[in-house]
Amino acid sequence: MEIVQKNYERAISTYRRLLDSVSAGLRPLLLQRLARTLRKAGRLEESAAVYRDLQRLDTVWIAGLPSDLIARSELSSLAAERGDTAELQAYALAFYRDLAGGKWLLDKPRYLYYSDRSRSWCRESQVAEVEFNDLRMTEERKLALSRAAENFLVQPARVLSGEADVHLAFWQADPFAAVVLSASFLGSNWWPQVLSAKGEDIDAALFSPDGRALFGSPSAEPPPFAVIQDIRAGQAPWRLQVWPRQPAAINAEIRQRQTLSLTMLVFVGALLLFGGAITLRIVRREMEIARLRADFVSTVSHEFRSPLTGIRQLAEMLLDGRTTDREKQRGYFRMIVEESDRLTRLVENILDFSRMEEGRREYKFEPLNPTPWLRKLVADFKSEIAANGVAIEANIPDGLPPISADGQALGSAVRNLLDNAVKYSPGQKTVWLDAGAEEGAIRIAVRDRGVGISEQDRKHIFDRFYRAGGDISKRVKGAGLGLSLVQHIVSAHGGTVECRSRVGEGSTFTIRLPAAQVKGGG
Ligand code: ADP
Repeated sequence: MEIVQKNYERAISTYRRLLDSVSAGLRPLLLQRLARTLRKAGRLEESAAVYRDLQRLDTVWIAGLPSDLIARSELSSLAAERGDTAELQAYALAFYRDLAGGKWLLDKPRYLYYSDRSRSWCRESQVAEVEFNDLRMTEERKLALSRAAENFLVQPARVLSGEADVHLAFWQADPFAAVVLSASFLGSNWWPQVLSAKGEDIDAALFSPDGRALFGSPSAEPPPFAVIQDIRAGQAPWRLQVWPRQPAAINAEIRQRQTLSLTMLVFVGALLLFGGAITLRIVRREMEIARLRADFVSTVSHEFRSPLTGIRQLAEMLLDGRTTDREKQRGYFRMIVEESDRLTRLVENILDFSRMEEGRREYKFEPLNPTPWLRKLVADFKSEIAANGVAIEANIPDGLPPISADGQALGSAVRNLLDNAVKYSPGQKTVWLDAGAEEGAIRIAVRDRGVGISEQDRKHIFDRFYRAGGDISKRVKGAGLGLSLVQHIVSAHGGTVECRSRVGEGSTFTIRLPAAQVKGGG
């Protein structure tokens, strides 16, 4: 009746009759048919009334559309047809608000159809501009998101650039799930949270692949210390720029660090130089010692050989019986004894030296009265060297304070000084020994008027194996050990040895030893 015969009146009365008898479930469908037919029959007021009834019922789906959507769109359409602007205004805006707000889940073509219609009703009835524009923008954003999602389904990519907005997509393959976010959402909600989490001292800006700043307000020039990082998501990179709010503070810190590094560098450099110099010195010294050691071996062999040769010749002469003169014979014997003494002293020195080198030299300290001890030592030495025609002038006062000493070792030290004084004053007939008491110490000075020692040599004469340069050392026999022994012995006694000398005028070696502690005030 309604569709084929187009007999609207009969159709209307039939629908009405059916309405009284059908179950509640079928009412919305019948109401929709009735309202539609009433409209076709030109009975607009009645049609609107039936649509209002339909709107009041619970929503059901009629031909793929929600019943209230049908009712409300038809009411708007009827208001437009009747030219009732006030009513249209009320219906249209509410309808558009619900539609754009997502009240009904529609497929896209239907959505677009109703969106289109409701917008034209809104414009027609001149609804409130502000709210309409707001709705319009919300809808545009959603549409853009929807288009992005559609594109994404065709060609998955992380960055989807649309006409108005850029979108970022995240998805997983199995089971397939995807989130498409608009960049403006990220810019307004997400980035501020993420980027402000870092604290107040940094600023940040985020640029979409098309170069627009989505977040933050970057200056035209990159600010100092800005760090720019491309975030690859798809073909074109997003760009994140982070920079400090107070570059001055960083500058200050950099300067501080530079100063520190420089100081360290200078320090390390100085240390290296110092170390290098010390190493060089040590190496030089070691080389010198190696050379001295080699010299020592040859000197010592020579030192041994000459007294041995002398003793042998003298003994042969005596054995031959060629010399019958008793006086001469005595002379030869005396020379043999002297040479043997020299050998003995040499061997003792070498033995002492090797013990010292190995740290095995032990001293036996005993109370020692210096005056008689020194006098005896000088007397013995005098008789040993009498044959050389050299005299010792000794000045040893009575009552020198007692000392604690190893008499034998200390004797060897003084003898070494006396030996040297004689050896290094060729042509001189006298050497001197002066003893004396000083405050809490005794002093033994051995003086000669011999060749003297240059300032350069004075620094080294106490070193082992060291022998001063020049002619005299070549002529005078020696192993370069005497003074180092003297030094060792004197230090072991808690004393000092000092040398004063002038080249060509002579030398004075002074030993100072602490006097023994007087116990119990006596
Ligand atoms: P040696 O006498 O066996 O060479 P020493 O250690 O006793 O070794 O002496 C080291 C060097 O000091 C000697 O080679 C000599 O050049 C110098 N010297 C020591 N005593 C004197 C002195 N009284 N006069 C001049 N030079 C001396």
